[in-house]
Amino acid sequence: MNIKVLGASGSEVPGHNCPAFLIDGSLLLDAGTVGMSLNITEEHGVREILLTHAHFDHIKGIPFLLDNLVIRNTRNAITVLSGRDVLDDLRKNIFNDRIWPDFTRIPSARRPVLKFRALSPSRAVAIGGYKVRMEKVSHTVPAYGFIVENAGKKAIAYAGDTGPTDRFWKAIGAHDVRCLIVETSFPNRMENLALATGHLTPSLLEKELAKMPKPPSRIFIMHIKPQYQMEIETEIQALDRENIDFLKEGDVIRI
Ligand SMILES: [Zn+2]
Ligand SMILES: [Zn+2]
Repeated sequence: MNIKVLGASGSEVPGHNCPAFLIDGSLLLDAGTVGMSLNITEEHGVREILLTHAHFDHIKGIPFLLDNLVIRNTRNAITVLSGRDVLDDLRKNIFNDRIWPDFTRIPSARRPVLKFRALSPSRAVAIGGYKVRMEKVSHTVPAYGFIVENAGKKAIAYAGDTGPTDRFWKAIGAHDVRCLIVETSFPNRMENLALATGHLTPSLLEKELAKMPKPPSRIFIMHIKPQYQMEIETEIQALDRENIDFLKEGDVIRI
């Protein structure tokens, strides 16, 4: 599996993009950044988007991706997959013919560029050659983490935005997860804000990793608020775990 980092930041400032990770050129984990990072051919390759939740920094790339595909008349469709609650939010609040067109009817209701597919937590489904399992995590809105397993049974786990949680870490133990992408949004001194907004600090992350009997051998940090980057990186390094790395735009993870 080849995972290209289109965005790995907890906000948008020059050089830092919102979260999106492209697996093998076709399957997106979140879509905070798409059109700014992919060329035309790469955009045409995207088939499915696994969406962790409906917060703006994770969906921001979808409206323009759809617009680009329709304008170029590529005839390929994008399927957005998530919990029913997340998809309902997108339908009602974004693709509602007010904020943005209802792309489930464009260019035609029969062959739309946008499709939604609701997934049930804890049930593995086959999606584009992968086995995908979705589990609920703990955020301020309905939010899910994903475990994506390839035909060779190697898996990547993507927790999305979450504060302290349990179910997702337990699910990871049932798969051969080679790498975990997990958020750390705030420094330790802002733990109260992190907990109130459903996010992690380095010390909260340490407690989450301790919940797993056998954490994945490679752990990648994302969703750092750029304003606190130095502070958070220093605190993560102080955890003294050799297998933790920081993701940045343009990185490629291979498992
Ligand atoms: Zn969020
Ligand atoms: Zn976020």
